[in-house]
Amino acid sequence: MVELVFPAAPHTTVAVAHRDAVFPVRRIYCVGRNYLAHAREMGADMREPPFFFQKPADAIVASGSTIAWPPATRNLHHEVELVLAIGRPGFAIAAPDARQHVFGVAVGIDLTRRDLQEAAKKARQPWESGKSFDASAPVGAIHPLEAAEPLPGKGRITLSVNDVVRQDGDLAEMIWDCAEIIAQLSRQFRLEAGDLVFTGTPAGVGPMQPGDRLVGRIEGLEPVVLSISATR
Ligand code: MN
Repeated sequence: MVELVFPAAPHTTVAVAHRDAVFPVRRIYCVGRNYLAHAREMGADMREPPFFFQKPADAIVASGSTIAWPPATRNLHHEVELVLAIGRPGFAIAAPDARQHVFGVAVGIDLTRRDLQEAAKKARQPWESGKSFDASAPVGAIHPLEAAEPLPGKGRITLSVNDVVRQDGDLAEMIWDCAEIIAQLSRQFRLEAGDLVFTGTPAGVGPMQPGDRLVGRIEGLEPVVLSISATR
């Protein structure tokens, strides 16, 4: 075994609900504009094929954490999303087979530096600065799907800031459902166990302030809770 020149970074993990185990994260994929009302609020209005971007695996933040105000932004937005946790590898997965590749589901927040994202869009540059920064992926505990449990197709999804509900939608409003997302994503990338897929956000995204406390909820799942430190 070749010696490492310095110790490797610890593997990022996400808690698994009701189990003394954690889910090792490989990659984080995210779907853009997957709820019609949110696509409209962002200025788009079509059932285009879903598009994907990535966040680094070490952008994961455990539920219950407090994070520093992210650097280089004055316009930090919350996007509450259903997250699929892939448990079985696959390439070009057919939608009816997608369920077999999912270990479990969780609630996540796709934190977005909206000012940097908008600047990138305008300049036709990639989205990394707006989407893929440190601590940009808070995720709650993963609910393992039981053998007979289907992929979620409906259920209330909400995000509150300081106990005021800002986003309030239903998973049934997704333009591309979970199985279709996995089918389309797996045509572009070979999915592996440990991949997480953020499936898009309902309407109501908006700016946060230092000191805010966020709670993201999806019916039947463990909430994700995140605090932002009080100083910029
Ligand atoms: Mn998003």
